[in-house]
Amino acid sequence: QPVLALDVGGTKLAAGVVARDGTVRSFCRIETAVGEGPTAVVKRLLDLGEQALAEAGLPVGSTPVAAVGVGCGGPLDPSTGVILGPPGLPGWDSVPLGQLVAERFELPTYVENDATAAALGEYRWGGWGVESLVYLTVSTGFGGGIVASGKLFHGAARQGGELGHVVIDWQGRQCGCGARGCAEAYVSGTSIARRATEAVAGSDSTLAGLPITAKDVAAHARAGDPIARAVWDETTAMLGRMVAVLVNVCEPELVVLGGGVTRAGAQLLDPVRNAALRQAMPPAARACDVVLSRHGDAVGVLGAAAIAYERLG
Ligand code: ADP
Ligand code: ZN
Repeated sequence: QPVLALDVGGTKLAAGVVARDGTVRSFCRIETAVGEGPTAVVKRLLDLGEQALAEAGLPVGSTPVAAVGVGCGGPLDPSTGVILGPPGLPGWDSVPLGQLVAERFELPTYVENDATAAALGEYRWGGWGVESLVYLTVSTGFGGGIVASGKLFHGAARQGGELGHVVIDWQGRQCGCGARGCAEAYVSGTSIARRATEAVAGSDSTLAGLPITAKDVAAHARAGDPIARAVWDETTAMLGRMVAVLVNVCEPELVVLGGGVTRAGAQLLDPVRNAALRQAMPPAARACDVVLSRHGDAVGVLGAAAIAYERLG
């Protein structure tokens, strides 16, 4: 029996039906429109889930679907499925997402931090053939998950490790979590856009006066705009340093990068991989490689599905 997988991001919602071998039988996505607030967003997420079931030929009611897996930005409580005010989802304080999903689909529902889930999805279905990996998502926010010796790392608080809030500059930028200089304060689509907006104010940059996204910064950096390039270089330098820290701490066989910002491809991967493997301790660096997920936009859905299969047993 396949599972339904739902992925809740700050920019997009995604839903898919995923078979036990990782085959994605249907995939649909829609903008989160986070400003509409949790009630409206959750309704559209549930509708998107129904659409994914229909597109897989499994309309609700007659569904031979085993469970629903849900990946969402943390912090959240994976045992109750309650979302606890993630920085990327303003207004989502104590949203009982697991319960709402379970009621709509009348199926066992398992909620997990999206990046933790994606780490398990990459381990199961990434096609890497490794027993240990660190997954990092560079999307609206920044987070990650760890698989060691074939097992997902959960932690006593069941948050899977807040990798996005590792401090890489203790006097650095204010982060949404309240601390200063977290990796997320530099390495996230939101921060890339914000730093570029600050940097171009009053300048003659090709980005000045426009509403700026991380995608724009990547494009203008490629086209040679010096301010966009400086923001991009700072981002890849920070991410490279962050990856080096994780390579030293975890000594994984692989670091996998995913999320919307990785659509920039080699423009992101090459400087990050070079910086990380140069700065990490040589034995750990030699044992490791840094790659992009092969799953593109489906990485979150595959992660949520992997969690559903793991908890189903
Ligand atoms: P979510 O956080 O909802 O899961 P995504 O993973 O799609 O959403 O990430 C959205 C972020 O990815 C946005 O900040 C967007 O600007 C950025 N992005 C999308 N395409 C590109 C691109 N080609 N290059 C760089 N950044 C991109
Ligand atoms: Zn933080």
